[in-house]
Amino acid sequence: MKNLLYLPFAFLINNALKLRFSYINKVFNAEKKKRVIRWTLLLPGSGCAWAKNSAGCHMCGFKVKIDQVNRGKPASITKLMTIFQLGKSLTRGSSPYSLSIYNGGSFFNEEEIPLQVQEEICREVERSSSIEQLIVESRPEFVTDDRIELLTSLLKRKKLRVAIGLEAVSDYVREVCINKGFSTDDYERAVEILKKNAAELSTYVFLKPIYLSEQESIEEAVRTTRYALSLGSNEILLESAFIQQGTKMEKLYREGEFQPPWLWSTIEVVRRTSHLGPVYIGGFEDEPPPIAIPHNCEVCSPRLMRSFRDYNESLDVSLLHNGYCACKTEWEREVGYHSLDSLVTEVESPIFQPVPILLST
Ligand code: SF4
Ligand SMILES: [Zn+2]
Repeated sequence: MKNLLYLPFAFLINNALKLRFSYINKVFNAEKKKRVIRWTLLLPGSGCAWAKNSAGCHMCGFKVKIDQVNRGKPASITKLMTIFQLGKSLTRGSSPYSLSIYNGGSFFNEEEIPLQVQEEICREVERSSSIEQLIVESRPEFVTDDRIELLTSLLKRKKLRVAIGLEAVSDYVREVCINKGFSTDDYERAVEILKKNAAELSTYVFLKPIYLSEQESIEEAVRTTRYALSLGSNEILLESAFIQQGTKMEKLYREGEFQPPWLWSTIEVVRRTSHLGPVYIGGFEDEPPPIAIPHNCEVCSPRLMRSFRDYNESLDVSLLHNGYCACKTEWEREVGYHSLDSLVTEVESPIFQPVPILLST
């Protein structure tokens, strides 16, 4: 009941951000093999440094959103901690297992999230009776030995998990088709630092950057997923391209030069990689809201989107076997595959190995 006291303030923040800044939901935890309660907090830092100092990644619309929220001014320590405390007050009675913080950039970059806020949040998590895991996002250049050592020491026995947007294993694709601005070596260096400090790693893999064909983008996503899991990534977050305003991807889409991927392509990547480790399918809701999302035909798209949700709640790949639809033949023609059925053999083959969780040792 106490939460009711905070509702007017929460309403004001939601209104200012034009989105729900804090919420609780249940997610499937691959290590625990059951659903756990997650608290998600959107913390409006001053926005991604890479997006500010360059044109940003070709598909990312965060810059537009952060500019709307902050109007170019960096967020103060007081404002960020007030938002944190308000979000926390709204979780009372829920006992979340994990806290995921999204700041539309890199949590470890002090120009985006002041160091004092990073430290205070770690202390809060350490003191929490229920939260066991803090999940934040960062570009690899901000994953430094000093910072990870400091924050993991504040967290004590609680786990730090860092999500890095590798997107593509090929430096060429990451540079030219995504404009990501870091190399595979940078990613590997960050992975080593996380391992050294017993922190965990999530890796974003991007399906269908601009300039790649449907088939090339599937192959790149499969290669990238295999690579990240082989380095010890605890999970893969497979993001399929959707169109946000103010991006290079939007420009090409409006010129008829780019289309979001088929849902069959997402399934293809998952079916070829999910036996190697936890691969989650990213949703298509974001800020600013997409103007076009991945799809098949009107008949099977709703069914497959539902199967994605079901799959994410168990990581049971058999839930993606959703029968046939006439549009699959069109997809097969475009990507040059004869049938998805051949891939089932690969998924069920003896190459199945449990994922080595290197980072938690
Ligand atoms: S995808 Fe990440 S790194 Fe790229 S511009 Fe967006 S927030 Fe920045
Ligand atoms: Zn269809």
